[in-house]
Amino acid sequence: MTAHPGAAPMSPPEARYEWLLTVVEVFAIGPRMRRLVFTGEHLDELDYQPGQALVLRMPLPEGGTGRRDYTIRSFDRVRARLVIDFVLHGSAPAANWARDAGPGDTVLAQGPRGRTILAGQADWHLFCGDETGLPAIRHMLETMPAGTTAFVWAEVDGPEDEVPFDSAAALTVEWVQRNGARPGPSRLLLDRLAGFSLPPGRGQAYLIGETSNVRAQRHHLVARGMERGQIASEGYWRPGRIGGHDHVDD
Ligand SMILES: Cc1cc2nc3c(=O)[nH]c(=O)nc-3n(C[C@H](O)[C@H](O)[C@H](O)COP(=O)(O)OP(=O)(O)OC[C@H]3O[C@@H](n4cnc5c(N)ncnc54)[C@H](O)[C@@H]3O)c2cc1C
Repeated sequence: MTAHPGAAPMSPPEARYEWLLTVVEVFAIGPRMRRLVFTGEHLDELDYQPGQALVLRMPLPEGGTGRRDYTIRSFDRVRARLVIDFVLHGSAPAANWARDAGPGDTVLAQGPRGRTILAGQADWHLFCGDETGLPAIRHMLETMPAGTTAFVWAEVDGPEDEVPFDSAAALTVEWVQRNGARPGPSRLLLDRLAGFSLPPGRGQAYLIGETSNVRAQRHHLVARGMERGQIASEGYWRPGRIGGHDHVDD
């Protein structure tokens, strides 16, 4: 190839950021969780890390769309199939859309984005989350190799909401049940965390779910000596908040 002195250097092509997703299959994952399997043009170009999410443009009752973050639960590049698990938490735009969606329905997605991804170097990994965090926790666990160690604390309403975890890691799982109490601010996961003896070595924690719970769990782990950099923490929802997310960094 001939060099052209003074010519601007070629910039790499921009990664695609918008995807029109079409529902191809739906499944019940439990009484309060619905799985939607999507396909879409150009999905073979999607590059993401397990734990990351897409922003879905959800139809709003007043017209237009609102932004709602949803984790990529799994992705099959060869078959162009992307899976998202939706919590059916009540009557709200994304929950309603997911409850009613069927094959052929479409949604515009943007991303991937998100800071909740596996840290490479850690002697053990601690995952703590409610239902909204389960898709990320399940996907990250699937990618952990043999020889790694993971502890999972997961909050759901009842035993019928529990889901299997598939991982090559040495796994300890504890379910925490609300037993009919409203999801939201509570000490349920915090109390379990308080009873957990931090293993020796350098750990990495991933705290995702309702914002005030995530913040309390983070403060608890910092008080016990974990460095802030060892704790990835994100508020995935909070009572009264419409869409969005809360970085929990304090
Ligand atoms: C990075 C990221 C990844 C996420 N991944 C997932 C995912 O894979 N699956 C998933 O189901 N959710 C996920 N969430 C959470 C989801 O984006 C929120 O629950 C979102 O608010 C749902 O939108 P909505 O239109 O149903 O409700 P909104 O219109 O946003 O909220 C309406 C009302 O419902 C309440 N509300 C919202 N979510 C819940 C809930 N889970 N339980 C109880 N009340 C709630 C709000 O506080 C508000 O009062 C993720 C969030 C983030 C930031």
